[in-house]
Amino acid sequence: MLSQILDRSRRYFAEFHGYQWQRAASEALELNRKNLCILVLALTGQCGLNRHMFNLKLQDTDLCRLCKEAAETPLHLICSCPALMHKRSTLLGKHIMQPEDAKFL
Ligand SMILES: [Zn+2]
Repeated sequence: MLSQILDRSRRYFAEFHGYQWQRAASEALELNRKNLCILVLALTGQCGLNRHMFNLKLQDTDLCRLCKEAAETPLHLICSCPALMHKRSTLLGKHIMQPEDAKFL
């Protein structure tokens, strides 16, 4: 199970961030079980967001419930959801983030 999580995390960071996945995986493994579980669910998109629920046929749409402009995924909420622009700017200093910017979170 742990090796599957590491493999998937490694692929995620290599594909979307193309950088220090080893460091990110090491930091993830320092989290407690609950927070590691939340991180894995968010990284894999298997959380309660509409994209995942739509894929499970538990939701009629995969659109973001805040803006209804794009699929509701963790990446959309963190980087580009216009409904979260003000909060993103306040918390992260940018209205819109590129996926590669998220590696610094
Ligand atoms: Zn949105």
